[in-house]
Amino acid sequence: MLLRRVAVAVFVLAGMPVAVNAATAEVHSRATEADAQLRHADSIKSSDNGAFVALLDQIERQPARLNERQREMLAYLRGWEFAYRSDFAAAVAALTTLANGASDPTVRLRANVTLVNVFEIGRRFEPAYARMQQVIEALPNAEPEARQQAIGVASEMYISAGQFDLGIDYASQLLAQASDPHVICKGLMHRLRGFYHASRYADFLGSLQAGVDACTKAREPIYANLIRINAAQVYLALQRPGDALALLARHRDEARATRYAELTSNFDAVLAKSHLALGEFDAAQTLALAATRERIPGQITSGLVDAFDVLYQVAKQRGDSRGALNWFEQYAAADKGYLSDVSARALAFQQVRQQVQQRKAQIAALTQQNQVLKLKRTVDARNLLAVRLGIALLVVVLASLGLYAYRTRRSQLKFQKLARRDGLTEIHNRQYFIECAEAELRYCRKSLREASLVAIDLDHFKQINDSHGHAAGDFALKAAVTACQRHLRSVDIFGRLGGEEFGILLPDTIPERAADIAEAMRAQIAALQGSPGGPEFPVTASFGIASARAAGYDLTLLLAQADSALYEAKRHGRDRVIRHGLSQSGPPPGIPERRQG
Ligand code: GH3
Ligand code: MG
Ligand code: MG
Repeated sequence: MLLRRVAVAVFVLAGMPVAVNAATAEVHSRATEADAQLRHADSIKSSDNGAFVALLDQIERQPARLNERQREMLAYLRGWEFAYRSDFAAAVAALTTLANGASDPTVRLRANVTLVNVFEIGRRFEPAYARMQQVIEALPNAEPEARQQAIGVASEMYISAGQFDLGIDYASQLLAQASDPHVICKGLMHRLRGFYHASRYADFLGSLQAGVDACTKAREPIYANLIRINAAQVYLALQRPGDALALLARHRDEARATRYAELTSNFDAVLAKSHLALGEFDAAQTLALAATRERIPGQITSGLVDAFDVLYQVAKQRGDSRGALNWFEQYAAADKGYLSDVSARALAFQQVRQQVQQRKAQIAALTQQNQVLKLKRTVDARNLLAVRLGIALLVVVLASLGLYAYRTRRSQLKFQKLARRDGLTEIHNRQYFIECAEAELRYCRKSLREASLVAIDLDHFKQINDSHGHAAGDFALKAAVTACQRHLRSVDIFGRLGGEEFGILLPDTIPERAADIAEAMRAQIAALQGSPGGPEFPVTASFGIASARAAGYDLTLLLAQADSALYEAKRHGRDRVIRHGLSQSGPPPGIPERRQG
């Protein structure tokens, strides 16, 4: 409070008009003084928000002093303050006016960037990406500092929407203009993030050291450690868990010292995954629990999904089925939330892109139409032939507009299809499978009909990749999917849930029947080797079955029970079908029977 009063006093003094003889000089000095105040306010807005608000109030009391640009800047800072106070409705109203109508390009750009942030916080991805488009259009005329900040946001947003090349491109643009160490650090961080998400691991490892060095030099430990998290994820993807562990363990204290929850939670989650990959279950569990404790309330990050997954895997490995079910439920819910964010972003990006294309095409068509009208005017109106020609031309223009509308619709439909399909096997992707299966289960519940769920996991798939290469692995995946499809009806819902894991929802099917169907699929997969057009190596799969009769109509529970039956199938030697609750009698091979008493 004292601090605030002192600050106010200082700015009241600073704001007092200075007596200058020449009137023009006075106007000029007032303008530069207001500029200095606004710049100062801008620089302390988050570090000393109280003084910032007092300063805004003070500047606002003398509106006559301000020129148009300064008034706009003041309005922008007010809008920012609404957002900072989480008064998002007021922030959106104030900032939208500026973003659409401010005369100063830097103000327009900054208002758009803050709007992007506000929409992001509210998970309103479509307006966020629409505003991002405005940011891009305002970039060329904005001041360098605002432009650099905006390019950083663009890179981040496009990578989050799955537009990796675009995101990497913006990061490179940032680097091309940068001399400030902080900007270089940010540019490299964004570019590395793009490489990681795009699975460009060689490029990633090629600039890893430069990124870490730049951020260390710029004293940006948050960015340096975000890079290290991505690096550990790359090591894990390359089956180098030892390297992932060594890197993160060395810098955990430094990461924790930042007290930045999004960093520390993800850091511990990836560290937990590294321990799990090395079979160190205690450490994996401890760190995964730490990651869930450090989570940001109300936010689902990839780290949170990873942490629940680790806790589920650890419980499963230890045979703690109740714990496994509990963590699986949390994992499934978080994963679903995370994936729906990811696909909502991708969809928002595509919708905005389409709107932009549509706008461009409409402008082009209108220009064309104008030219036709002009042409018509220049020919003699009495010349029937010319009129007819004009009409014919108009018809052509209208037809091309119609064709355009048709193409747009077609590409929208195509995109929708792509967003729902798994790229390799062409069956439903995980997200769409969940959506369809949940809808079908609701329908079954209402009409009290049976439904069964089959979980499938290909056996020793890592070995197939290791011995025959990734392409052969892909081929086997597709062959296995085709084999299963032969036994499905049109009402069955078939989706790829993860790498070599699949789910099938069979409506109106009792578990006994589901087991027969799964058995037929199992046999068909096992017979693929050497069949015409089939793989040259053996492929088998394990199946777990759950039914609504026992589990109810909740997909998460059905998935958990099917998964635990699948796990039983794996334990009992793979290449088999097991129904949940009917585990094969006797212990799995190699484990002695426990004595009674
Ligand atoms: P298990 O019998 O216990 O299931 O052993 P597994 O090796 O199949 O299980 P694990 O989950 O350890 O390994 C799955 C492997 O599947 C790891 C990954 O390399 C591979 N994989 C995942 N997605 C794809 C893909 O799209 N194509 C190919 N070729 N391989 C994939
Ligand atoms: Mg698997
Ligand atoms: Mg497997």
